[in-house]
Amino acid sequence: MVQDQVVLVNSIVDLIVGSGNSVTNSRRRIIAEIVRKNGLFTSEEITKDLPNIGRATVYRTIKLLYELGRICRINIVDDHSYYALSSSDHHHHTVCTECNKIEEINISALEKSIRKHEKDISGELVSHNLELYIICQDCIK
Ligand SMILES: [Zn+2]
Ligand SMILES: [Zn+2]
Ligand SMILES: [Zn+2]
Repeated sequence: MVQDQVVLVNSIVDLIVGSGNSVTNSRRRIIAEIVRKNGLFTSEEITKDLPNIGRATVYRTIKLLYELGRICRINIVDDHSYYALSSSDHHHHTVCTECNKIEEINISALEKSIRKHEKDISGELVSHNLELYIICQDCIK
C-alpha cells in the first residue's frame, strides 16, 4: 500500500473514531480494501476479498461510512449497490457505461436550478441524487 493510501485509511479511521464508533482490526482492513479499490465497489466484492471477515461486519462498516458521508452510493442499473469513496462535499458523478469508471462532478447551475424549483415541489426537499452516464475518453477510442 502506497503512502497516500495509508494516509487516506488513517483519515477514515480518525473520522470513524471521531464519530464515537470503534475501529476494530477487521474494520481497518475493510477500509484499506476500499481504498485499494480506488473506484467502484460492492459489499459483495469486499466480502469476497476478505474471506476472514464476516459479511455482517463488512455491511455494517460500509453502512457507517455511507452515513458519515465518506462514501457515495452510485446508481448503476444492476442488481448490486455500488459505492465509491467520496472526496468532496455535495457532488454528482459521471459513470462510464463501458468501463464503470466514475468521477465526481460539480454543476453549480444545476444546484441553483434545483433550489429555484424547490417551491414547485409539494413537500420538503431533503436530498437529491444524479448520475451522468457517459462513454469516457478511454472507451471512445
Ligand atoms: Zn461521490
Ligand atoms: Zn470508460
Ligand atoms: Zn446536487
